[in-house]
Amino acid sequence: MSKQFKFLIVGAGFAGCTFAERVSTQLNKKVLLVDKRSHIGGNAYDYYNEDGILIQKYGPHIFHTKSRKVWDYLSQFTEWNGYVHRVIAKVRDKEVYLPINIDTMELLYNRKFTAKGLKKYFGNKMVKMDKVKNSHDVVVSQVGEELYELFFKNYTKKQWGVYPEELDPQVTKRLQVRFNRDSRYFTDKYQGIPKYGFSRLFDKMLNNRNIHILLNTDYRKIIDVLKFDKIIFTGPIDYFFDYMYGKLPYRSLDFKFETLDIEKFQNAAVVNYPNDQDYTRITEFKHFYFQRHNKTTICYEFSKGDGDPYYPIPIPDYQKIYLKYKKEAEKLKNVYFVGRLAEYRYLNMDQVVNSALRVFKKIKHG
Ligand code: FAD
Ligand code: UDP
Repeated sequence: MSKQFKFLIVGAGFAGCTFAERVSTQLNKKVLLVDKRSHIGGNAYDYYNEDGILIQKYGPHIFHTKSRKVWDYLSQFTEWNGYVHRVIAKVRDKEVYLPINIDTMELLYNRKFTAKGLKKYFGNKMVKMDKVKNSHDVVVSQVGEELYELFFKNYTKKQWGVYPEELDPQVTKRLQVRFNRDSRYFTDKYQGIPKYGFSRLFDKMLNNRNIHILLNTDYRKIIDVLKFDKIIFTGPIDYFFDYMYGKLPYRSLDFKFETLDIEKFQNAAVVNYPNDQDYTRITEFKHFYFQRHNKTTICYEFSKGDGDPYYPIPIPDYQKIYLKYKKEAEKLKNVYFVGRLAEYRYLNMDQVVNSALRVFKKIKHG
C-alpha cells in the first residue's frame, strides 16, 4: 500500500493532539491520528451530558503552567475562562483549604496564626531528618505527624493503594505548606479552563485537512496494513512492547456521576475526603465552567488497582521496569514515545504539551 500518511500518532490526548497539530501545520505532512476511545482529548475530554451540563468524563482537569511557551501555544486554540482552582478538604467536620495555609490552620485549631507564628509552630512539630526519602518524609518534615495523619496518610492509601512511605517524594511535594493565606491550589502564573471546554480546544487543534482521525481503533489493527515514516506513540509503553518485561502498574479510577435537582452541591469544584469515605473526592463541574443551570452534576472518584490506566505509580521499583522499556524504545528508529503513559511519568497536561513540542522540534530539525 502506498504511503498516504507520513505520521501515525497513537492516542488523541494532549500529547497526540499537540503532535498532530504541529506536524500538520509546520511540516505540512499527512497524519493518521488513532485512538481506541470513541472521542478525542484523552483524559481531558469534556462533554455536555444528557441534562446539558458540561462535565469531564475522566475526573477534574484544570490547566495550569509556569511556562509562557506552553500557555501561548495553547492560547492559539482557545480563550481561557479565568477559573482559579481551590480545593477543600473535609476533616474533623470542617471544610478547610488545601494546601495547608494560615487559614487552614486557624480553622482547624480555632486560633490565630501569623506567618512567623506558624513557622514556629511547625518548627516544633516537624520531624527533623537528614534525607527526605519518600512522600511520608516530605510531609512530616514540614508539618509533623498529626497533620500528616489528618490529610495525607489515608487519602494517599486510598489514591495509590500504598502508604506514602512507599511513594517517591514527588507525589506529596505537589502540596507544599504555605505561610500565607493563598488558598489557590496552584500558584502557577497561567491557569484556567478553556472558555468553551477542553474538547473544543482539541477540535480547533485538529482542524486541519492533513489530519485524519480514526476513533474506536487500537493502533494494532492498522499497524500491519499501513506504512508510516514515523510513529508517535502516546499509549502505555509496556503495551507497545507486548509486556516483554512484565506489566507496568498503573492506578485506575471509577467515576460515579450523579445529577441532582439543586443548583449547587458543594462550596468548591473539588472537595477531598481524606479519611471518612471510600471515595477520595467529589467534583462538581459547574464551578469549572461557571455554567448556570438549575441542576448540577457531581462525580465521586474511587481509586482502584485494575482497569484503564490513569496514573503511572511513582514507586522506585516500577521505575526500574520502565527503564528497561525505555531502553527498548531507544533502539527503535522513527518511533517516539511521548506523554503520561508512554513516558510512565506522573505528568500534568502542560508538561505533556511541553514534551510533545520538544520532541516535535527534534524531529523537525532532523
Ligand atoms: P492521555 O490523555 O491518557 O491520552 C492517551 C490516549 O491514548 C488515550 O485517549 C487512549 O485512549 C489512547 N490509547 C492508549 N492506548 C492506545 C492504543 N493501543 N491504540 C489507540 N489509542 C490508544 N493534569 C493537569 O495538568 N491538571 C489537572 O487538573 C489534572 N487532573 C487529572 C485528574 C485525573 C483524574 C487524571 C487521571 C489526570 C489528571 N491530569 C491533570 C493529568 C492529565 O490527564 C494528563 O497529563 C494528560 O491528559 C496526559 O495526556 P496524554 O496525551 O499523555 O495521555
Ligand atoms: N494528597 C493527600 N490528601 C489530599 C490531597 C492530596 O494525601 O487531600 C496527596 C495524594 O497522595 C495525592 C498527592 O497528594 O496523590 C498529590 O495531590 P494532587 O491533588 O496533586 O493529585 P492529582 O489527583 O491531581 O494527581
